[in-house]
Amino acid sequence: MPNLPNVDAVLLTASILAGLGGAGCAAIPDPPEPLPAPEAPQAAAIRLDEPPPDAAAPRPLAPRIHWTPATPAEGTLAVLTLEPMPQGLPAFEMTAGARDNEIALARLKGGAYFGLVAVPLNTDAVPVEVNVTFIDGTRLTQHLSLLVERQDFPTTGLSVASRFTAPDEQSLERIRREREIIRAALAVVSKRPLWTGAFILPRNDATTSPYGQRRLFNNQLRSRHTGLDIRGRTGDAVYAANSGRVILARELFYSGNAVYIDHGLGLVTGYFHLSERAVREGQWVDKGQLIGRVGATGRVTGPHLHWGLYLQGAALDPRTLLELELTEIGDRLLSPPAIVE
Ligand SMILES: [Zn+2]
Repeated sequence: MPNLPNVDAVLLTASILAGLGGAGCAAIPDPPEPLPAPEAPQAAAIRLDEPPPDAAAPRPLAPRIHWTPATPAEGTLAVLTLEPMPQGLPAFEMTAGARDNEIALARLKGGAYFGLVAVPLNTDAVPVEVNVTFIDGTRLTQHLSLLVERQDFPTTGLSVASRFTAPDEQSLERIRREREIIRAALAVVSKRPLWTGAFILPRNDATTSPYGQRRLFNNQLRSRHTGLDIRGRTGDAVYAANSGRVILARELFYSGNAVYIDHGLGLVTGYFHLSERAVREGQWVDKGQLIGRVGATGRVTGPHLHWGLYLQGAALDPRTLLELELTEIGDRLLSPPAIVE
């Protein structure tokens, strides 16, 4: 049998011997190595200048939708992947939204898209809508609902200067103005990832206050902790958790000296209460670059770094960034994140 590959030849020999001599015969050679898994069929591009092999015109087919984790926890984010059906009509445009916010989609090698979905606090389900426009103009909309795992958050009491729990009229006006500036800055979504590889902690130190903690300021003002506090002394270095562009770097009423970095696809990290800022608005920063120093500016009980994560208008747990497999997804991107100054 000169034309048969080795493994097949062994298989054939084994079955002949088994048929002749029965099981347990010493002449039967060792079991063959498992056959290599067949290669996945290539997603064939649809040629529009010739009819498909089965002569049936390709139809507009809904893309396959995946998300991870399967049941995201409140205060985290999920990664959404949209995979067009290879035998369907090519998609001209794909868009997605969650809770009335657009999800910025990046194209992956092979034609799939991915985007990030915010899962805010106090949510049982996140509605997601996916819209596809095919090259023939047909539109298709899919609705899904991401079920959310609720969490238990601890409660703590804190004492701060009274001007932070009962701000005067002038401060209230400033707070309103700054809320608008922050909202506008977070609403600008870069359409491609600006981050590279895994996210890192902005300071390698202990967590002093977790995300989501229920707080009672001066026994009168109830609030939620919408970031993660990391220990540090005044003057200690604070580093960018990943590459991106500085969208805000200024002194704010509650956050004190603050720096916000846009990492693309709507993902923004914030660094608050700094004693000094080392970057300016509009500046590109690399992962691990010094962006400021720990301080005690704004509404604080003492020096520390408050690290925040924002997506689609929600403040999320920044630890999500360290746990998610964004690295692998980043490596599969069709256009790699460009480093520009
Ligand atoms: Zn904090």
